[in-house]
Amino acid sequence: MTSKWFAPLLILAAFSGWLAASLFSGLTWLDTTTAIVQSSFLAALRMIIVPLIFFSLFSGVLQLRAAGAMGRLAGVTVAYYAFTSAIAITIGLIVVFFIHPWTAYPPLAEIPPLSSGLIDAEAGGVASLIGNLLNSMLVNPFSALAELNILGVLTTALLFGSAAALTLPTNSRWPALLEELTQTIYTCARWVLTTLPLGIFAITYQLTDRIDLNTLVSLGHFAGVVFGATAIHGVIVLPLIAWVLAGVTPLQLARAISQPVLTALMTSSSAATLPLSMTTAEEKLGVTRNKAAFVLPLGATINMDGTALFEGIAVIFLAYMFGVQIDAGSVIIIFLITMLASAGAPGIPSGSMAGLQVILLAVGIPLEAIGLLLLIERPLDTFRTAVNVEGDLVGALIAEKWS
Ligand code: ASP
Repeated sequence: MTSKWFAPLLILAAFSGWLAASLFSGLTWLDTTTAIVQSSFLAALRMIIVPLIFFSLFSGVLQLRAAGAMGRLAGVTVAYYAFTSAIAITIGLIVVFFIHPWTAYPPLAEIPPLSSGLIDAEAGGVASLIGNLLNSMLVNPFSALAELNILGVLTTALLFGSAAALTLPTNSRWPALLEELTQTIYTCARWVLTTLPLGIFAITYQLTDRIDLNTLVSLGHFAGVVFGATAIHGVIVLPLIAWVLAGVTPLQLARAISQPVLTALMTSSSAATLPLSMTTAEEKLGVTRNKAAFVLPLGATINMDGTALFEGIAVIFLAYMFGVQIDAGSVIIIFLITMLASAGAPGIPSGSMAGLQVILLAVGIPLEAIGLLLLIERPLDTFRTAVNVEGDLVGALIAEKWS
C-alpha cells in the first residue's frame, strides 16, 4: 500500500479503465465484468469499514489514556490538534459555501441517497435537527454495526473507549489486546486495498460513460478550491498561530520548516517525513527532544489539518456531483465525522481515502464517488500533506511554549 509503485499503478488503472471504456464500451461481457468487479470491490470496502473504525477508535481512546499519563503536555497537544483541525474544516466549509464553481455545470447523476439519510430534510428547525442527530447516535450498538450507521458506530466506540479508559486497571491487558485486534483488522483492510487498482479500473470504466468535459472542468474547479482553501490555512492561519502563541514570525517559521514541508510535498506522507520533522523541531525550532518525541509522532498520526480541510470540501463537491441533498444537519455531521476521520487517517499517501468513505456513507453519498475523486487525488495529496506536517511542527512549538 505504501510502495512507491502504488500511486502510479492507481493512475494507470484509472487511465486503462477510461481507455477500455472509450474503445470497447458496449461489449456486453466487459460491461458485466466491470459491473461485478465494481460492486464486489465496493462491498468489500463496506465490509471492512465498520470493524476498522470501531476498533481503531475504541483502542485509540485507550491509547490516549496512556498518553494522558503525560499530563499537561498531552492536554496542550491534544487541545491544539483539535482546535486547528476544527479551524481547518471550518475554513474548508466556509470557502466551499461561497465558492463552488462546479454548480454552474449539471451534476453527474440525480441518484437517491444510499441510506435513508441521517437527517430528515423535511423536518426543519434546530430542535428536530438535534433530535434526529441524537436518534442516529444513540442506537443499539449491534444495529448500528449491522446497518452501517456510521454515526452510531462512532458514538458506540467513543462511549466504550471512554468507559474502558475509566474502568480498566492500569495493568490491564485489554488495551494491548484491542490494539492487536485493530492491527489484525488493518491487515484485512490492506488485503482489500491491494485490489484497489482493479476496483479503480472497474469504477473508472463504469464512470466513463458519465464523465464528460463538464465533469473534468468541475474537477479542475474543485482542485482550485481545495488549493486555495489549503493555502489560507497553511500560509495565513498556521503562521499566525505560531506568531501569536509562540512568538515565531512567519518568515522565521518558513525558513525553519522548509525542508520537512518540501519532503512532505515530495512523499505525500507525514509518516515518512517524521524523522526530518523531529530533527527540524529540535535543531531549528528549539523544541526539547522529549517533547518533540511525544508531540510529533502523535501529530503525524492524529493531526491532519490539510486532510480535514480537503475532506470537508470533497464531501460537499461529491454530494453535488452525485445529486445528494446537503442540509444543515448534514453539515454538522460532516464537521463532526471529519474531525474523527482526519484524526484516524494514517500518514501515508492517500491515507485519507478510507476515512472519506466513512463521511460519504454517513451523508448518503454512493461509495463509487471515490472513483471520481481518485482522478485528481494525487496532486492534491502532496499539498495537504505539506500542511499536515506544518501543523505538526507548529504544534511542537506551541507544546514547547505552553506545557
Ligand atoms: N497523505 C496524507 C499524509 O500523509 C494523508 C492523506 O490525507 O491522505 O498526511
